[in-house]
Order: sequence, then structure tokens, then C-alpha cells
Amino acid sequence: MSRRIAVVEDEAELATLIEYNLTRSGFQPKIFGGEDGTIAALEKFQPDLIILDVMLPGHDGFELCRRIRAGGQMTRVPVVFLTARSDEVDRVLGLEIGGDDYITKPFSPRELVARVKAHLRRSEGEAVQESSEIRLGPFRLDQAARRVYQNGNEVELTSTEFKLLEFFITHPGHAFSREQLLRHVWGEQHFVTPRTVDVHVRRLREQIEVKPDEPVFLATVRGFGYRFETA
Ligand code: CA
Repeated sequence: MSRRIAVVEDEAELATLIEYNLTRSGFQPKIFGGEDGTIAALEKFQPDLIILDVMLPGHDGFELCRRIRAGGQMTRVPVVFLTARSDEVDRVLGLEIGGDDYITKPFSPRELVARVKAHLRRSEGEAVQESSEIRLGPFRLDQAARRVYQNGNEVELTSTEFKLLEFFITHPGHAFSREQLLRHVWGEQHFVTPRTVDVHVRRLREQIEVKPDEPVFLATVRGFGYRFETA
């Protein structure tokens, strides 16, 4: 079954180029202009992945991503931002509000298709996993459903946050450097930097720690990285 890719991009020429390359690679793309009503149209399309331009008429891509992540059926759909602005602040903002990847214009269609494939491979790999449940302290990780519960309450996570927490929960007590975490959790996404790890760890702490500044579970290993504490 060909995978549905939503292309939210108001520049018609670029949108058509992306559409052409995705179609040629066996995907089923659909272009959205980013105007009011885009969220409803996306929900109807049920994309397997969303390519989201940052500069859009009306709401910008970050705002759309916030809404996509705010709830509903698209909470876990991978989001790849497109932007002309490449500085670190924007990059971090994009990831903090739940983007999974970031591509700076101009980009080659080949690069875009490769990123799309990488993300879909990951989410497909996740989907076919055997149903398995891991319990660690107050945490229950349902790998098949991609959900984490803490003391019985679901922890709301983006797909990247889930992958990071999953990695920690399945490797308790081990210290990992930022580079190791990047390699294991982000894999072939070359755009990420060690700072990306810090951003996501902070977000995870805000979700699972009573006092994010005094973490009990997600400990900092000074001068090295992070370690997930079991007790
Ligand atoms: Ca645009």
C-alpha cells in the first residue's frame, strides 16, 4: 500500500516538484496550501507523514505543528519541517514543538525523499513489532501501541520523545553520551546536534519528573551525558 504524504507548502512550484518526486518514488502525496481549514483537511487525508513548510499564509508551520501535536489522530504522525531559515534557534523551536526532522531550503528532491523513507521505515518498523510491554519502576512501556504510562497515567509524547524514553527505559542504569544517544535514537538524521538531545531530555523531564530541575529518573552525568535511574 502506498504511503500517504501530506505536503503543506504554499509555493505552488515547489509543492509540485515535491509531489512529482514523491509520486515517482511510489508515494501518494497530496498538496495542502496551509490556509484555514488545513488541519481538518489533513485529518481527512490521514497522512502517514507530513511535510510542513514553516512560512505559510495565515498560521505558520510551527503553529500548525502545535495543533497537530495537540491531540487527535495525528499526534504521532512524523512531521518534517521545510524552511528557508536555518539558524539553530528555529531548528530547536521546530523540534521543541514536536517536529521530527528539519530540511533547509534549497534542498535536493533526492534528499527529501531519502528523509521521508527513513522516517517511514522507522514508524513501520515500530508498527510491526510484537506486542510487548516493559515495566520499570512506575513506568509501563507499551511498545506495540507506542505509549508510555507512569503510575497508570499516559505520558503524552511526540514520536521522537517516545523513542528517547523507550531507549532509556530499555537501558536502565547505563550512562550514555549525547553522541551515543543521537546514534541510537536519531539514527541517520544528520541534522541533529548534541544540543538536540538536551532539548528532548528537558522535554521528557517536564513530562515525567515531579521537579524537572531536580530529576529523579533522568539524571545528568556531568561532563558526559545522561543516565536513566531505576529507583
Ligand atoms: Ca512558504
